[in-house]
Amino acid sequence: MAINSARVKEFLNSPIRMLIDGEWVESRSGETFETHDPATGEVLATVPKGNAEDIDAAVTAARRAFDDGAWTSMRPNVRQQLIWKIADLMDEYAADLGELESLDNGKSVGIATAVDVRYAAECFRYYAGWTTKLTGSTITPSMLIADPAQEYHSYTRREPVGVCGQIIPWNFPILMAAWKLAPALATGNTIVLKPAEQTPLSALLLGQILEEAGVPAGVVNIVTGFGDAGAALSGHDDVDKVAFTGSTEVGKLIVDAAQGNLKKVSLELGGKSPNIVFADADIPAAVAGSLMGFTFNSGQACESGTRIFVHEDIYDAFSQALADATAGLKVGPGNDPEAAVTPLVSQEQLDRVTRYFDEGKAAGARALVGGSRVGDSGFYVEPTVFVDTTPDMSIVREEIFGPVAVLIPFTTDEEAIAAANDTEYGLAAGLWTKDLSRAHKVAARLQAGQVWINTFHAFDNALPFGGYHQSGWGRELGADAIDLYTQIKAVNIAL
Ligand code: NAP
Ligand code: MG
Repeated sequence: MAINSARVKEFLNSPIRMLIDGEWVESRSGETFETHDPATGEVLATVPKGNAEDIDAAVTAARRAFDDGAWTSMRPNVRQQLIWKIADLMDEYAADLGELESLDNGKSVGIATAVDVRYAAECFRYYAGWTTKLTGSTITPSMLIADPAQEYHSYTRREPVGVCGQIIPWNFPILMAAWKLAPALATGNTIVLKPAEQTPLSALLLGQILEEAGVPAGVVNIVTGFGDAGAALSGHDDVDKVAFTGSTEVGKLIVDAAQGNLKKVSLELGGKSPNIVFADADIPAAVAGSLMGFTFNSGQACESGTRIFVHEDIYDAFSQALADATAGLKVGPGNDPEAAVTPLVSQEQLDRVTRYFDEGKAAGARALVGGSRVGDSGFYVEPTVFVDTTPDMSIVREEIFGPVAVLIPFTTDEEAIAAANDTEYGLAAGLWTKDLSRAHKVAARLQAGQVWINTFHAFDNALPFGGYHQSGWGRELGADAIDLYTQIKAVNIAL
């Protein structure tokens, strides 16, 4: 493969190590694993396979870095500058990070650089600002049984949680690393980060940036490895909090594993998000937005709008336009600027998506467009829209995690709302209408952590993100993520 970035070439040509206590190390067992280029299926790099022993060493380092107090008691403005510097370095190395992300994940190098890395850098800036704005409150207590003459001074302190285990997926590796690290660092925690086995590389390059920015040894540790490393982290008794993004299935395992020491848990899990197009919508905008809603990142996004409900009056026109637009998307590698749908991340993910193609067809659904693998090398599939579905089909109920949507007609608003909410998930929802009252009324009734009106995938670092129902626990981003990484202490003084 042709690599443009000198830094990426150097990174890939040097032995790849993980970061524990400020040292770049091999796994304690000496074991490694391979990560692949999804455009070709070829081996991209060999990476240390960290296991429970490495996790333990990383947790020990994070504990020491937390307990020695140097990091947690760093002046807020100094921490702010340090976190801001991470963002500046990410901007400086954006082309390198973007190219490495594209090579490891398969996504478009242009989008990885202009969107993923840019949003990630800006996430660090957003939380850099929070370092100097963390406050408690002063409270006047009633103190029912105390002498009325006795005065009290009462206040709350917002303190870091401690050692945080952070387990991230492969769909937005650098962005998910930023969503996890930035608020945890801003609030004075120390961290063990476990990237996904499919995409471990950009987190390690980010580790170099953290060092260059001056993050002290042990404050951020990065252990590459498989699910057993994630399990060791979420089950570790010296970890105070675990934050996870990934499948609902593994999210439940994390909850079980956290029981031993009742560590705090936040989860950002799967979705099967509805996207409702009302008859009064701006149709071309709704077609373009709905297309983007299920094909962005080749559909490998937990919030993808994969159940598209369309009012019967516009159903024929809309479905024709969506089919044409879907068929018009170019499928190609991440280094092709024209490619709108890039390869899926892995053979496993290719098998999963093509299995759903087969299941959908066998159950009686019809692929209006797409429905097949593309070529026989690399992990490519056609962007696909299924029609003639029934609510019980697996393609309607389960998260496919590929560029696949189902198109379903509806008659009344009530029917659309009920169908949209007929899911075990509740991550995101979209709706398209020019009627302001309908927009607000429907938004209030959708059971989802975020509702997008006349837009989709509309993220901002200041807006909380997370799920209802089995889409997770807690909210990342915005002020809400500060709550995930802090705990409150009440101090009450008899004066
Ligand atoms: P996954 O297993 O949930 O992986 C997410 C992260 O959890 C990875 O870092 C993974 O490590 C780690 N992990 C795996 N088993 C673990 C365990 N027992 N304890 C702690 N951590 C563990 O997701 P996947 O297998 O890659 O993908 C399967 C499906 O999950 C996808 O098809 C998609 O539907 C969904 N998914 C959702 C999101 C999201 O953003 N919500 C992201 C990715 C996938 P390894 O990489 O080493 O397994
Ligand atoms: Mg898995």
